Amino acid sequence: MEHPEEYRNRAEEFVCELTEEFYMNRAGLKDSLNASEIYMNYRDLFEKETVLQLLQPVRSLRHNDSPETSGRMLYLAAFAADGFMDMAVRELTDRIVSSETQAVVEFENRKLPFRMTPVVLANEPNARAREQLEARRQEVLSELNPLREERIACLHSLAGDLGYGNYRSLYADIKGLDLDVLADKMEQFLDETDSVYTHNMEKAASTYLDMPLSDVSRHDISYLFRGVEFDRMFPGTNLVTSLEATVSGMGLGRESYPNIHIDIEIREGKSPRAFCAPLRVPDKIMLVLMPHGGYDDYHTILHEAGHAWHYGSVLPEQEFEYKYLGDNSVTESYAFLFQYLAINENWLSEYTQGPRLEEYMRFSTLQKLYMLRRYAAKLLYELKLHAGDDISVMPGEYSSLLSDALKISHPGVYYLDDLDDGFYAAQYLRAWIFEGQLRDFLVQRFGERAYAYPETGEVLKELFSRGQEFTVEELAGRLGLASLDLDPLYEEIDNNLRI
Ligand SMILES: [Zn+2]
Repeated sequence: MEHPEEYRNRAEEFVCELTEEFYMNRAGLKDSLNASEIYMNYRDLFEKETVLQLLQPVRSLRHNDSPETSGRMLYLAAFAADGFMDMAVRELTDRIVSSETQAVVEFENRKLPFRMTPVVLANEPNARAREQLEARRQEVLSELNPLREERIACLHSLAGDLGYGNYRSLYADIKGLDLDVLADKMEQFLDETDSVYTHNMEKAASTYLDMPLSDVSRHDISYLFRGVEFDRMFPGTNLVTSLEATVSGMGLGRESYPNIHIDIEIREGKSPRAFCAPLRVPDKIMLVLMPHGGYDDYHTILHEAGHAWHYGSVLPEQEFEYKYLGDNSVTESYAFLFQYLAINENWLSEYTQGPRLEEYMRFSTLQKLYMLRRYAAKLLYELKLHAGDDISVMPGEYSSLLSDALKISHPGVYYLDDLDDGFYAAQYLRAWIFEGQLRDFLVQRFGERAYAYPETGEVLKELFSRGQEFTVEELAGRLGLASLDLDPLYEEIDNNLRI
């Protein structure tokens, strides 16, 4: 391996080039995606020998107390190992992505790109039509599953190449995740919120779908949570101005952030999924969004703004590892902190209009609870999948874990589609938990309208300035809070969804 400093510099170039490439493609500024080519140009970063060399001190450092170097080394090792895995399955990933992009389904006598089907499902009020479209979708998914099985088998055996017993222990180690503790907490969460979830979900199924919960399937959920009823509360014309006023209130106004660029232009080829692209931290941060109407746009712009203000506030002299790598639960927590202003009663009465506020609070908290339970079940499933057990039982495991947690039938065919690499589910869960803690911390200090004061902005700026130097557990410790404490989440659910 080259000199560590050289490795870092090259890694930074690689990350920036790749981010730029994804940004150009997803923003609709370029119709091709040359990610593979970029990986090839930087393949020296992910050679097995290099990765093993970077991984080697990680385990011993865990038991050693020199947090300054160990954090950076761990993040760099995780980057290298992750890149090694991605690199090795790159062709399979490309084949899956292009098959998906090219797949077309027949629906109501027209041909529909497979990729468009989720959007159609979310806007299709007729349950029978949703069911028919879902049947076509599942044909495509079944056809793709052999490729996905090959890819997962390959990832599992690569974990062995890096000296780990299985994929699960590889990721637990490089991401510094205590997956067993998290799984215990989430299992308890599933138990404790079971009745409040079921009760509210039964009501929601009847109100928004006119169906008993027992008849609801996975493909009905996006229509259930589409929330057409609340569209008038969230007019598109106020979307950007409400964000601007919110950050201004915290003393984080856009005039102090010329490095953050907001792009809400409607463009052909622009991805319907919003994203934040930190092209250069902190100098050039893009927030890209294609509004489609309703409460979801507000959640989305606030979420992505949380990422943007985080990356845009990082100290320029901060180390590469802390600017671009590290614990992604941190940036997701800040994104959630901004996003869930759209469930804050005070914020809603200031920034939205109409008489349905109370109903909406219940609705959107239920959606959040649904997501938490969904990710809890996904984590429990992934722990089984990635422990290296017999893959043939996994469709059944997926189906029973997700269906039990959500009280909605989940077909096994999704068992490798409904999955992110590298236990990202665990990162989201830790982010939801820490967001609850951080929000509670701010409310204790500055009150329910914490978002309206520059003092809050000062606390956030200080946190943001370090990038992802600390994990969420470390951040909780620095704020004097317990590690992964779910109480604020329980409290929020109890307040908003009380039976
Ligand atoms: Zn995010």
